Amino acid sequence: MALNSELMSRRQAAVVRGVGHATPIFAERALNSEIWDVEGKRYIDFAGGIAVLNTGHRHPRIMQAVRDQLDRFTHTCFQVVPYDSYVELAERLNALAPINGPAKSILLTTGAEATENAVKIARAATGRGGVIAFTGSFHGRTAFASVMTGKVVPYKKGLVPALPGVWHVPFPVIGSEVSVEDALRYIGFIFKADVDASQVAAIIIEPIQGEGGFNQAPPELMRGLRRICDENGIVLIADEVQTGFGRTGKMFAMEHYDVQPDIICVAKSLAGGFPLSGVIGRAAIMDAAEPGGLGGTYAGHPLACAAALAVLDVFEREKLLERANAIGERLRATINRFAEANHLLPMSRARGPGAMIAFDMVKHRGSSEPDAEAAKRVTELAHRNGLILLSCGTAANTIRILVPLTASDQIVDEGLSILESCLVA
Ligand code: PMP
Repeated sequence: MALNSELMSRRQAAVVRGVGHATPIFAERALNSEIWDVEGKRYIDFAGGIAVLNTGHRHPRIMQAVRDQLDRFTHTCFQVVPYDSYVELAERLNALAPINGPAKSILLTTGAEATENAVKIARAATGRGGVIAFTGSFHGRTAFASVMTGKVVPYKKGLVPALPGVWHVPFPVIGSEVSVEDALRYIGFIFKADVDASQVAAIIIEPIQGEGGFNQAPPELMRGLRRICDENGIVLIADEVQTGFGRTGKMFAMEHYDVQPDIICVAKSLAGGFPLSGVIGRAAIMDAAEPGGLGGTYAGHPLACAAALAVLDVFEREKLLERANAIGERLRATINRFAEANHLLPMSRARGPGAMIAFDMVKHRGSSEPDAEAAKRVTELAHRNGLILLSCGTAANTIRILVPLTASDQIVDEGLSILESCLVA
């Protein structure tokens, strides 16, 4: 039997430092909301491979769809010999997405590829270059996506030059010193000081910042952005890579708003554990790029498309949107109880819609002073006690819960009781 510690030594020697890891264990197998490591220890999975497993590990329907596809073909490259599953998935995404009028889609592989392609498409449609993003945002680690990402350490420092053409607006975190009016006014300053609005191709925003700490964009912000985009011919891009696919209790987090984006980026839970991303948008914008300007060898891979079609079926059959809301209620009630308990470490109440739930570790009860050390201790203790748990947030003090929506109440409660044991002061 391989030991976690032996594998970790080999990993340290063979794999670059730049790729981090949240836990010191190595996976052996996984099913639904549980993972077993190479030493046979069982863990409850509250991370879902960073929001990828809303349908759980190895859902039988998804596995069967992939097996069936394996027996037909594994790769032709859609740009060489197209296949029906790519087209069917695009049709279903176009019908589901909260996009005004006719929609079209492109399928890719990673979230970063989705955000980069969304910008390429917006640039093709507008003939402009500029991009406005938000502080604390995360749009990926590839060269341009990391320029859009609104956090210098660890995503940019020493890795990317400060490219001209991308401006960051302070994100109005609820309860912080930045209001929605401030954020919208700041865009006006950018138009006066840095770039004329007529040179801006896109504004990109996560409806709920994922890596940035599960901060939800207030409805007035989204309405304000829609107005600015409409007044200036700018494309509004919603990065739903982390919020997408049912996590928030709606298929797309943008359905929580009364305005619609022009383009939506999806990835992660779209394909239940297989690498797939997509850009969905208004047909007139999506068709701006010339043939050959978009795509990729593996983009919209047949195994991932088969998996994604099965994911959509599983969402319908198992009513996973309702389940997201029910799991969210359960998490919220318990976490809010933890927040009141004097024998537990100081923490905030739960926030986030549906099952996209997080809370902050803070220095003192009732304060909002971040305690990153406490968040680190809690996640490390959780791993030792059999719970895979992730932190996030610009101050690294947020603990987020991304348990599969297919998890039973019993597993959710077991995970929460491990979490409680890790929060004891
Ligand atoms: N956008 C958002 C909102 C994300 O959360 C992530 C991944 N955490 C990405 C983009 C990048 O996705 P990927 O790692 O698949 O490139």
